[in-house]
Amino acid sequence: MPVAKLIEEFSKLPGIGKKTAQRLAFHVLDMNNEDAKSLAQSIIYAKKNIKYCNICSNLTDKDLCIICSSKNRKRDLICVIEDPRDMAAMERTKEFDGLYHVLHGSISPMEGIGPEDIKIKELLQRIQKEPVEEVILATNSTIEGEATAMYISKLLKPMGIKVTRIAYGLPVGGDLEYADEVTLSKALEGRREL
Ligand SMILES: [Zn+2]
Repeated sequence: MPVAKLIEEFSKLPGIGKKTAQRLAFHVLDMNNEDAKSLAQSIIYAKKNIKYCNICSNLTDKDLCIICSSKNRKRDLICVIEDPRDMAAMERTKEFDGLYHVLHGSISPMEGIGPEDIKIKELLQRIQKEPVEEVILATNSTIEGEATAMYISKLLKPMGIKVTRIAYGLPVGGDLEYADEVTLSKALEGRREL
C-alpha cells in the first residue's frame, strides 16, 4: 500500500511521530506532480552528490568545501566541531577566521561510539601534514562533548600544538548549533588553554 509506505518512511525521520508522518504523507499526495518530483529528486541528488570535504569533512558537493577553498581563512587555526550545523552557528558570529574540522559525532560509550567512529584520525593526519598552531575544541558541553574534547586534547598536546576549549558560558548540556551569536562570540573569545 503506497500511502502506508510513505507514512512509514516519514516516520523514520527524527522528531516525526506517527501523526506528523501521516500529515506529511497526505500533504505529498496533495502536491502537484512537479513539486512531488522535485522533492524526490532533491533527496536523490543530495544523497548522490553531497560528500565530505577532503580536508575538514564538512558537507560539500566538491572536493573541498567553501571554507577550505577560501583564500581568506587562516590555515594554522582549526576549530573542531561535532556537526556541520555547528559550523553555521560559528560562522554567524563572524569572529572565527580559521578552518574547521567536523567530527561527525562525539565519543559515547553508552551508544557504543568510540574514537574510531568519528573523524579523529582524519584530524591527526591533517595536523601532521599542515602547520597548525592552535586547535580550538568546540564540541558541545554535554558529557560526550567534554569527553571528546579531553580525548583529543590528550592526543594533540604531545604534538606541541596549542589546544584550547571554548569557554562555555553556554548552558551545560547545550548544543553549539543553538547558541546565539553573542554567547558564541564570548565563548570563543574566552577560550582557555587545556
Ligand atoms: Zn572543508
